[in-house]
Amino acid sequence: MSFAELGLVPKLLRAIEEAGYSTPTPIQREAIPAVLEGHNLLAGAQTGTGKTAGFALPVLQRLDEDRPESRPVRALVLVPTRELAAQVHESFRAYGRYTRLRTAVIFGGVGINPQIETLKRKVDIVIATPGRLLDHVGQRTIDLRRVEILVLDEADRMLDMGFIRDIRRILKLLPHERQNLLFSATFSDPIRSLTQDLMDDPLEVQVTPRNKTADRIRQTVHFVDKGRKRELLSYTIGHGNWRQVLVFTRTKHGANRLAEQLEKDGLTSAAIHGNKSQGARTRTLADFKDGSVRVLVATDIAARGLDIEGLPHVVNFELPNVPEDYVHRIGRTARAGEDGEALSLVCEEEKPLLKDIEKLLKTEIPRITTPGYEVKPGSASEPQKAQQKPAQRRPGSDLGNIRQPQRRNQQKTGVSNRGRGDRRG
Ligand code: AMP
Repeated sequence: MSFAELGLVPKLLRAIEEAGYSTPTPIQREAIPAVLEGHNLLAGAQTGTGKTAGFALPVLQRLDEDRPESRPVRALVLVPTRELAAQVHESFRAYGRYTRLRTAVIFGGVGINPQIETLKRKVDIVIATPGRLLDHVGQRTIDLRRVEILVLDEADRMLDMGFIRDIRRILKLLPHERQNLLFSATFSDPIRSLTQDLMDDPLEVQVTPRNKTADRIRQTVHFVDKGRKRELLSYTIGHGNWRQVLVFTRTKHGANRLAEQLEKDGLTSAAIHGNKSQGARTRTLADFKDGSVRVLVATDIAARGLDIEGLPHVVNFELPNVPEDYVHRIGRTARAGEDGEALSLVCEEEKPLLKDIEKLLKTEIPRITTPGYEVKPGSASEPQKAQQKPAQRRPGSDLGNIRQPQRRNQQKTGVSNRGRGDRRG
């Protein structure tokens, strides 16, 4: 099955080829023809399945078929986070480079004026986070009355983040007659109810079974004393010679602290979370992508929608409170067609959380143990005591030999330093 067989026109096929894709992913095989035919779509697909191209390509094709002189906004893509907005925007621009359509991205945390200027110059497609979009509506700098296609991307995350009222306000501003596409990794009752309000009789596409993690992710659990998690993490990264790893913590403060500690262990690290400016987040992400930062420590919200190609390792430094977040987190690895590994460091008090996750997955995650880091009976909640017993191998002794990630050029080193400076500041 090729992209051409899905009914895409040559100018899109050319852009796809330049993106380096040879065969459509399952969600693309299902979604592209359905959207081209004008169906409403309810798609169960998490990040990493190729869902963005699954909606961007047919939306571009439909809009490019005829372009009204007045150039109203004809497609609106709502996303939960700024990072996802930026990534979806990039995708539209890359796939649409041989069309004459224009795309704008709108999100908070940055000045509104440049966005107003862009909107004035007429755009066909708008990718937006709900809050900032409503700011533009309030200022009458955007008119949504001619929207033909609405996409809700990562709809479950948008509801988790409390955007439901904003979404409903936005829906009221759109024409009744339109095509609706909803993408969500999970289908909770609130998502079902939103879908019912949004569309009659949608075509349903499910590429990963409900609430199931991608098969290609090798998941493991390591029980460890709480106070020794950081040491075990440094050791694991160094010993395994991990080139790139995304580490999840529960709090922003925890993310900062862990990144600083790992840095002291000799691992180039940075934290990404909601308290950082958009500029700092973008820079940190760029440093991580180009390899000048080896360990990216993130909170759930900051990591939503992060698209990092070929990310081989994800570590849950702390388990999430909501089991579904586990699925989202580990979905950051094993992207389209690659294998990935997800390790969870679990201390005594997190065992109930692990139980909930395993209940959701309907499977037990395999346990592993690193010699020297076994949980000593009775020491679980007493990290001090555990630390007095020396590990068989201290991470520090290995770290001297760790191969640092390759730097592509000198300039990047400067960027990386700036990124780290941000974190400390
Ligand atoms: P997404 O699920 O949209 O976040 O996409 C996940 C990753 O897969 C992105 O890095 C895309 O560039 C990549 N991708 C999308 N479609 C394909 C394809 N047909 N073949 C290979 N990679 C793809």
